[in-house]
Amino acid sequence: MEPMAAGPAGAASSPHLDLRVVEGPRTDVHRRFPAGSLTPDGGRHYRVPGVVALDLLVAKGGTDYRLSGRIEGELELDCSRCLEAFRLDAGIDVDLLYLPASENRGDGEVRIEEEDLSTAFYRDEQIDLRHLVQEQFQLALPMKPLCRAECRGLCAVCGGNRNTAPCQCADEWEDPRLAGLKRLLKH
Ligand SMILES: [Zn+2]
Ligand SMILES: [Zn+2]
Repeated sequence: MEPMAAGPAGAASSPHLDLRVVEGPRTDVHRRFPAGSLTPDGGRHYRVPGVVALDLLVAKGGTDYRLSGRIEGELELDCSRCLEAFRLDAGIDVDLLYLPASENRGDGEVRIEEEDLSTAFYRDEQIDLRHLVQEQFQLALPMKPLCRAECRGLCAVCGGNRNTAPCQCADEWEDPRLAGLKRLLKH
């Protein structure tokens, strides 16, 4: 869906940054993505429960554009121990250098290493800001999502959530190999 009216560098709701209307060497760009609009196209799964704000300063140098600023929002993940959904604060600093896709050649890569900046490529004078945020979310996802560091997980015996419904299984549970040994000793 196209925005009704395009202001400087596109409307506030447009997922694209139109580089043809980036005026001057430094331009502020602000986007607000509604809940659910940034769910992943690929990679690891997460949900976006609320509005995500993207606030950038776009610095133009020739055909290069440096986008620096911040993403503010929340991600919803499933805990790897207790499987409950929980929210993760996703405040992410952004500093990306966008080069025209036509520069994606050998000599360009040398320069990228020297500058030690995350580099991306744009084509058709457009930067897909939605894709930018989705990629940053993927990078921010924890390897092992936990609802809290001390999450007690699910009971191996009854399957209950040991954070919210403490059961007695833990006290009664014993290693089945030990139980077998005890039976042997009784005889
Ligand atoms: Zn948990
Ligand atoms: Zn239990």
